Amino acid sequence: MALGEFNSWFDQPLSSQFYGEEHESWRQVLRKFVDAEIAPHVDEWEEAGEFPRALYTKAAEIGLLQLGYPEAYGGTPAPDPYWHIVTSMELARHGAGGVNASLNSHGIGLPPLLALGSPALKERVVPAVLAGEKISALAITEPSGGSDVANLRTSARRDGDHYVVNGSKVFITSGMRADYYTVAVRTGGEGRRGISLLLIERDAPGFTRTSLKKMGWWASDTATLYFDDCRVPVENLIGEENQGFMGIMLNFNSERLGLASSANAFAMVCMDEAVAWARERKTFGKRLADHQVIRHKLAEMAKRILATQRFLETTAWQVDQGEVPVAELSLLKVQATETMEYCAREAVQIFGGMGFMRGNKVERIYREVRVNAIGGGSEEIMRDLAARQFKF
Ligand SMILES: Cc1cc2nc3c(=O)[nH]c(=O)nc-3n(C[C@H](O)[C@H](O)[C@H](O)COP(=O)(O)OP(=O)(O)OC[C@H]3O[C@@H](n4cnc5c(N)ncnc54)[C@H](O)[C@@H]3O)c2cc1C
Repeated sequence: MALGEFNSWFDQPLSSQFYGEEHESWRQVLRKFVDAEIAPHVDEWEEAGEFPRALYTKAAEIGLLQLGYPEAYGGTPAPDPYWHIVTSMELARHGAGGVNASLNSHGIGLPPLLALGSPALKERVVPAVLAGEKISALAITEPSGGSDVANLRTSARRDGDHYVVNGSKVFITSGMRADYYTVAVRTGGEGRRGISLLLIERDAPGFTRTSLKKMGWWASDTATLYFDDCRVPVENLIGEENQGFMGIMLNFNSERLGLASSANAFAMVCMDEAVAWARERKTFGKRLADHQVIRHKLAEMAKRILATQRFLETTAWQVDQGEVPVAELSLLKVQATETMEYCAREAVQIFGGMGFMRGNKVERIYREVRVNAIGGGSEEIMRDLAARQFKF
């Protein structure tokens, strides 16, 4: 469908070849949920630094938490990746990425367990998480560094039928209130071949956590985790010993697609807000939207959003075909976070002083740009990963 008079990015279908009635129906379910259960409360939750735990069960009631997971464990497989794109778009409309980050932390916590874990472990953990009764988190990053995953230091030493874990993890989403943590530990020698994944439960002896304050994503629960001779039963090993790195890498590809999709959706929110303001606000006797400088800012936003969205949709299509387009996924993530950064900047600028005020969506999104550009693989690491694929 060609673009015409602009009202909102969220009133347009995705590229027509990818978008069908079932996507539209899912979009409407999500829209109703977001408008009733999230949007009216986000300002309050952001200021409070958390959202009610009941939101997980409400999200499960409409099938949000289950989307993309196997039916055997209570999930609903997504027929194609555009379901996830539609989901990112609708969840961006409320303008608070932190709510989404914690609500969807199982999106990074569960995949390694599903890919590598024993049936018994999956059966014990996954259905309760997908029902919104339990919360799952992923703990990879350490105080000594997050980009260099292969050199993580948290150790797990076998002692009879337990592992004894020592070390700490930092910046962990859902870190304070998760029930199940998928934790990367060193069980072997140096490098990627010495890494395993353990499922650590919140009441494991020797496991404590403290909350962190942040620039943005205030409603998201972020914590430092401490393991001090923490004893974990050997049956909580996810997959085989020293084979955990693959599980982490598999996760990164889907996480990056999701992050890119979400970043571009937040760019769309910025443009929607800026257009509405520019149509209403008058300076020097005319609407902001009638000043050429402002019109060009809006056109530039549209250009970048559209390019990113097309890139996203074709990369999602490649993934759907079973490809693992590492270079595209890496560059897509950079493209999307730079688009978000540009649109957030220009939207705040178009709002003037009002863009600096708390309670304004663009003010919040502006503060959320960097976590998107750093988390799940920073822009520098993404460019480097793509460059390695190209073998320059
Ligand atoms: C709010 C929030 C939530 C998060 N949630 C989670 C979570 O749930 N689970 C989890 O495990 N982690 C989580 N993270 C951590 C996140 O993934 C890391 O912050 C990220 O991977 C970067 O690691 P780092 O912060 O240690 O930076 P570092 O690795 O120390 O890097 C610092 C800077 O140096 C650059 N750099 C590093 N190496 C190179 C290089 N070789 N060449 C060029 N530049 C380089 C990086 O790009 C970055 O700009 C979260 C982070 C935040 C802020």
